[in-house]
Amino acid sequence: MLRIEHLVKRFGELEVLKDINLEVKRGEVVVIIGASGSGKSTLLRCVNFLEKAQKGKIFINGKLVKQSEKQLNKVRQELGMVFQHFNLFPHMTVIQNVMEGMVQVKKFPREKARKAASDLLDQVGLAEKADVYPAMLSGGQKQRVAIARALAMNPKIMLFDEPTSALDPELVGEVLSVMTDLAKKGMTMLVVTHEMWFAKEVADRVIFMDEGFILEEANPQDMFTSPKEERTLAFLKQVL
Ligand code: ATP
Ligand code: MG
Repeated sequence: MLRIEHLVKRFGELEVLKDINLEVKRGEVVVIIGASGSGKSTLLRCVNFLEKAQKGKIFINGKLVKQSEKQLNKVRQELGMVFQHFNLFPHMTVIQNVMEGMVQVKKFPREKARKAASDLLDQVGLAEKADVYPAMLSGGQKQRVAIARALAMNPKIMLFDEPTSALDPELVGEVLSVMTDLAKKGMTMLVVTHEMWFAKEVADRVIFMDEGFILEEANPQDMFTSPKEERTLAFLKQVL
C-alpha cells in the first residue's frame, strides 16, 4: 500500500531522516514512537509531500509518486492526515468542515456531500454537533471532526501525527476509540503517538525512530517486552 525506499531529508546542514525504509501493507496499523526531534513528524510530512525529501522513493499502491504538482494533488487525496492541532475552519460549522473537501475537491453536489458528511459525523459520534461551530467543541470533539473531515476524502491511508497529545487526559480516550474503530474496519494507518496503550492494543507493528533512523521494528508484544536495542529500552523506560 505504502512503500518508502531510502528516504533522506535535510533541513540545511541538518540531516533529519537518514535512509528510511518502510512498508505499510493494506489494512495494517503501524505506530511510530521515538524521542522528540527523532524525525517522526518529518517522516509523515514527507509521505504526504508537505515536505520534499532530497532522496528516496515513495510508492503508493505499487506506483512511484513523481513530484509533479498534478500527481501530488492526486496523491494527497489518497492520504488523510490528522495533526496534533486540529486545524478546523473556524468560520464553518462542523458539517461544513467535513463537506468542504467533498464539494471543492471531489466536486460532489452539496446534498450528496451533506449526506456523506452526516454519515461520517455519525461514525465519530458527533451527529448531534453537525450545525455548531468548532469553537463550541471540546478538544476531543474537534479532533473527531478532523478525523471525519480527513475520511471524507475517502483516503487509502490515514496518517496521524500525535492526534491526542494536545488533549486533556480525559479526552484522549474518545479519540483513540474512534481510531481503534477505524483500524478494525481495515483502514491502513501510520500513527505517531505517545499513547502506548494504543500501540499495544491496536498496532500490528511498532517502529522506534532514533535520530533520523528506524532503529528497531517489531510487533507490539516484542517491542514492549523485549526490545533488542539499548536505546529503545531507555526510551520505553521513560514513557511506560
Ligand atoms: P516531536 O516528538 O517533538 O514532535 P519529531 O520526532 O516529530 O519530534 P521532527 O519534528 O520531525 O521530530 O523534527 C526532527 C528534526 O528536524 C528536529 O531537529 C527539528 O528541529 C528539525 N526540523 C523539523 N522541521 C524543520 C524545519 N521546517 N526547518 C528546520 N528544521 C526542522
Ligand atoms: Mg512531531
